[in-house]
Formats: sequence, structure tokens, C-alpha cells
Amino acid sequence: MTEKEELKKDQPAFVAEPLTSQQQPHAQFVATQRPRGRRPSGPGVRRYVPPPPVPRTQSGGTRPDSANPQAKQDAPRSGGQRKSRSRARFSEPRAKISTQRYLPPTPIHEGKIGTPKELVTQFAQEDNTLKIIALGGLGEIGKNMYVLEYKDDIVVIDAGIMFPEDNMPGIDFVIPNTKYLEDRKDRIRGLILTHGHQDHVGAVPYLQQRLGNPDIYTAQLTRGIVLKRHTEFPNAPKLNIHNVKSGDVVKLGDYFEIEFFHMNHNIPDDLGVLARTPVGNVIHTADFKFDANPVNDVPVNFDVLRKFGDEGVLALLCDSTDAETVGHSISEATIYENLEVIFKEATGTMFVGTFSSMINRIQQLIQLSEKYGRKVIFDGYSLKSNIEIAKELGYIKMHKGTQISMDQIDNYPREKVTVIATGAQGEENASLMRIVNREHRHVVLKKGDTVIFSSSVVPGNERSVQRLKDMLYRTGLKVFHYKMMDIHAGGHARQEDLKEIIELLRPKFLMPIHGQYSMMITLGKIGQEKGIPEENVIVADNGQIIHFTPDQWWIDKQTAPSNFVMVDGLGIGDIGNVVLRDRQVLAEDGMFVIIALVDPRTGQVNRSPDIISRGFVYLKEQKELLAQVRKQVRRIIESDKARPMNVQYLKDQIRDEVGRFLFQKTERRPMVLPVIIET
Ligand SMILES: [Zn+2]
Ligand SMILES: [Zn+2]
Repeated sequence: MTEKEELKKDQPAFVAEPLTSQQQPHAQFVATQRPRGRRPSGPGVRRYVPPPPVPRTQSGGTRPDSANPQAKQDAPRSGGQRKSRSRARFSEPRAKISTQRYLPPTPIHEGKIGTPKELVTQFAQEDNTLKIIALGGLGEIGKNMYVLEYKDDIVVIDAGIMFPEDNMPGIDFVIPNTKYLEDRKDRIRGLILTHGHQDHVGAVPYLQQRLGNPDIYTAQLTRGIVLKRHTEFPNAPKLNIHNVKSGDVVKLGDYFEIEFFHMNHNIPDDLGVLARTPVGNVIHTADFKFDANPVNDVPVNFDVLRKFGDEGVLALLCDSTDAETVGHSISEATIYENLEVIFKEATGTMFVGTFSSMINRIQQLIQLSEKYGRKVIFDGYSLKSNIEIAKELGYIKMHKGTQISMDQIDNYPREKVTVIATGAQGEENASLMRIVNREHRHVVLKKGDTVIFSSSVVPGNERSVQRLKDMLYRTGLKVFHYKMMDIHAGGHARQEDLKEIIELLRPKFLMPIHGQYSMMITLGKIGQEKGIPEENVIVADNGQIIHFTPDQWWIDKQTAPSNFVMVDGLGIGDIGNVVLRDRQVLAEDGMFVIIALVDPRTGQVNRSPDIISRGFVYLKEQKELLAQVRKQVRRIIESDKARPMNVQYLKDQIRDEVGRFLFQKTERRPMVLPVIIET
């Protein structure tokens, strides 16, 4: 099939405005509330109000002005005495942070992007800077989490997961390291969720407790998806989610005024975030694209973005996922047309593998199924529950009688059914994989059936997708790989859209986010093309603490921990690096267990030690090797005269010596597990 990449003609005309070099975002800070959902008509209505003293408003409620701020100030939030405790606890690290300045040692992009012109050595006493920290999402696709911090106030944007890489056996997914926030959780005024994709909301059930269960601000659909998923975690704290929509303004803490604005993506209810701070305005684009013909949605309002630009943008945190692709974003309408081509050619039952949060794609599949007289079956737990929510909230529209359940599949002719299943990526347990593997209770693939799945693969999943493909072809099916089934495909701004958003917002500093390094650098170059000086482009790493003043930025010498936190079936985080390394060793070189029965009084080894090994060498052919190991173990234990026996010491000795010996003989390093049983 062909991918038409042209936008429709009726896209709003775009008029470029000159970049203004003199932006004074600090003078634009407005500490008072504006009526919700309406913007002032021009720059004239803005007035400058010095940041403090502003009564602390609640962080609950989207209309802080409706509450009595004073009452709220006295009321303990979570556990009482928040202020004094947090001040005492954090005074020390803050002092440290503010006195150390650090230029990034950047040979980034021809030595220039990311290097501020000069070092500023002032304001060591009080930290008046705005800090932005990515705890995930820079240099990677996934586990997005961004922190905005000013004095005592922290606002967090997104809490996503990332799929594991090939070298992480047994890991389900990775979540951001939130140590930095856990140490400051009393200051978190809110968690904003931009949209319902798992790389933006998936970590909520794992992190809320650790972050002190901050109030969540998000749009309706995202709220539904998050709440539904949360029911699978009965021990996680109850979520307090405030429903916000485009145009809403929320005051978070003393220093952050947040305005939400509508963006297009491949899921409805995508919200960009404008944060007005005493230092300047920061815009987080969320995942976005500009789409003149979105599905169940309206196009992005360019006037709103242009007004934000007029107001002055200090820093633009911009989605870079598709920065390496030329042209305009692919419209959801075009994707619909492409899918229709497949529907026309399809024979037999159609099986479509997708992600459960690909709401737009699912809507298109439903519409096309209706058009071509097919009933629709949803298969996969997460998919079904997302569909229920989206239907309930009106984000998925479907005729009565279109949806049937899996056990009704045989009541209809094969060519009159579409099965939408989870598993675009060949995931082991996903529904599509079970169908293909003939492990599904109700469905059997037949020759002539049609399968659609994504061919653009999340890095690390290449092999499982290849396996899936091969199995499909073996079965004699009609296979379409259409990469727009993928969560990251077709939903992100391409180069022309990125140029447009930069022209509309005219940021002083540009910080690419949501991307691999190459994508972030490419967006940086696009920014330069659009007149942002090289030294104002910030290509950072996860964990780097970036300070902003109205006209400068730099990276702190301290960093926030940003190493991987892994989640598997057993739990979260307790799979540290040690466990992961163990699994890697087991996967590569196997395991070697030595069991010795020892008389604790004499220190004599009873019988010859038992040896069990898995995935190391075939034991029968290594009799000589095993005999030597047994002798070695006996010698180590019996030569130790300490009484009572120091079992731990002996085990360490055995592990080291036997490990060395096995490496000498076999050049492999199996995991050696000595077991000493006192009899
Ligand atoms: Zn997304
Ligand atoms: Zn994303």
C-alpha cells in the first residue's frame, strides 16, 4: 500500500511571524486566576504580579479560586506539618545544588548544541531558577516523566513505562527512577498526564504510592484508562484524578499556573501543557501531530499556539519522535484510506493486532468493518477494558450489533468477521500470538484469512515480530504489515509540523524530548533552521537537572538518579541490577549448583558433593571436570579449621575458586551456587 503523506488542502493557512529576540517571560507571570476555558483577548490584559506572597492554594480541584485558600493553608494535606518537615529535610541538598555550576561537557552535535555561551556564577544563596528534569523519555522511546521545579513546588508531567530491551530476561517493563521525587514528595503539587498511552501513564499504579499519591490532572479519556487499569492493583492507593480539558487553567502550588491545550495524536484527548512560572513560560507539547482531519476530534487550534507565542515562551519541550521524517504528519484520514485498501483486498476472517490504547486505529477498524459488513470481536483483556471506557465516554462510536463476542464467531461466515486483538509486536502472551500459535480456545486460523499487524517495531522486539511473521506465512495467510498499527507510528509531528510549532511558539530555548538521541539532535537542527541559536538548544540526558533563568540555562553538577527500575511478575524495583545480571549469566552461561553435606563438628564432607547444572555443559561428557570440582570443594571445606564453621565464608571460597576453575577449563562463567548442609 502507499502512504499518502500530504495533508488535506483545507489545513488552516499558516503565517510565519518573525522571531522576537527580546522576550521577557519573567515579566509575564500572572499569579492570579483567569476564568476557565477563556483566554484574554490580547496582551494588554496581562498584568505582572510579583510571585510571592501568594496564598498557597490547594492542589486539589481545578478551580482553586472556589476554595478558601487560608483554610487550605492550615489544613494538613497528607500527614500534616508538611512545610516545616520538608524545609528541614531539603535545606541541605538544595544548598549543594545551587552552589555548583556545571557546563555540559558536550561534544554534542558538532561541539555546539547544548553548550551555554558563558558561565554564570551568581545567585548561590537562593535558588531562583526553574529546574526541569527528565526522569525518562530522553534518549529513549518510553517511560516518559518530566519534572518542573521552582523553589518548594514541583509539578510532574507523565509517568510512563518502557518495554524492556533484549538484554533484560524476564523483565516485563521498565519504569522511571523516581528517587529524586521520593525525596521531595511533600513538594509535589500535581501529576499531569498528557494522554492515555502506556508510555505516558503506565507507571501510575507503581509510582503513586512512592510519590505520596499526588493529585492527578488529566483529560476524560485518559482518566478512564488510568482508573480502569488501577483496578488491577488493589493495594495501590486510591487515585484522586481531576478532569481537565483544553483551555482549563489550574494553579499548582505557589508558583505554577498550568494551562492545558488541545493537541492531535493517534488517541483522542491529547493535552499539551503550558506552565507559567516566575521564571518564564514552559510548554510541553505532549506526543502530538498536526492533523487537519482527525478521528472523532478537532484539529489543533493554531491561534491558541500563536497566542502562547505572543505571551512569550521561555522553553519548549517538544516531541521529537518523528523528527527524522520529512514532510507533514500523516493525517488520520489518510490512514483510514490506507486501511480501506486492505479491507477491500481482505479475504476470510480479518485478524488485526494492535495496542490496546490505539483508540483511533480501533475506531477506524470498527468503521471500516461496518462499511464492509463485518462484525467486530475484541480480544485481549486490556483491549476490551479500554474499548468499554472509550465507548462509555463517546470516544469510540459503533452501531448497535456490530460488536459480537468471541464465542459467537462461528455463527457468522468467516469473511464477515473482524477480530481486533492485542499483540502488534509479537508479544508472547498477547491474544494475536495465542491465535497464531493455535493456543486460543475459540479461534483457529484458516488458509485465506487475513492478518494485519504492525511492521514498525519497538526496538528490542524485532525477533518476536519476525517469528510472528514467519508463522503467519507458514499458515498460508494473507499478511499485511501496516506500520500505522504501532503506537509510535503516525502519531507524531514530522519535520514540517515541527517547524510550524516552533514558528508559532517562538521559544527562547528548545528542548527536544520523547526521542532517541538522533531524533532529539534532528529536532535541535530544525530549531536552528527556525532561528533558535545553537546554544539555546538543549539536548539533555535523563536525570540531568537543568536550571533556567529568564535568559540562561545550565546543567547542575548533581544529577537525579535515572537508572532503570524494572518490573517483573514478582514486583517492582526489587529486581535490581544484581538480579538482572544473574539472569543474564543464567541465560548465557547457565548455572552450576554444588551441594555438600558437612559434619559441623569435624568439618568433614560426607559423601562426594552433588553437582547439578543447567545450560552449562553436558555433565555426562565432563566426568573428569566434575571429579576435579568435587575434589576442590572437599579440599576447601576440610582445610578450614574454624569452629563453629563459617558457612558463608566457605560458600564464598567455593564460588570464587570453582568459578575460576570452570572458566579456565571451559571459558564460560556459569553462576556457581554452593549449598552447604550441616548434618
Ligand atoms: Zn502517545
Ligand atoms: Zn509517547
